[in-house]
Amino acid sequence: MVLRAPKKYLVVRVASSKIHGLGVFSKKRIQQGTCIIEYDGEKITRAQGEKRHKIQARSGAFYVFALGKKWAVDGATGGDARRINHSCDPNCKYEIKRGKIWILSIRNIKKGEELTYNYDVTEQGKYPCHCGARNCKGRM
Ligand SMILES: [Zn+2]
Repeated sequence: MVLRAPKKYLVVRVASSKIHGLGVFSKKRIQQGTCIIEYDGEKITRAQGEKRHKIQARSGAFYVFALGKKWAVDGATGGDARRINHSCDPNCKYEIKRGKIWILSIRNIKKGEELTYNYDVTEQGKYPCHCGARNCKGRM
């Protein structure tokens, strides 16, 4: 697998989502195994991340992404990847490679489909999920 994102935001666009607020949608067909976008933002410590997460989660936002044991990325100051919603039946996943977080497709994605991945939240089951998937757990 080539871990190089295509030209930034070339294959995705931000639009309003049925799942939550804004979402990220494919602009064209994306093949399984494509590295779509980097989850970028401010690099902070996990401790800082915990504090920010608590504040953000109050308004239903999940922007702090753990980057190993020591670090986290706060997507609130980053690009469009922070708009990708959680789903219990996602079409993408994240991968951490060389200190960067990447969002990759885990199946073929149709043009106009919303991109989702499993947030893998640390406090499992604490937050409601409205992803609409047939296998939705109702919580994330
Ligand atoms: Zn769900």
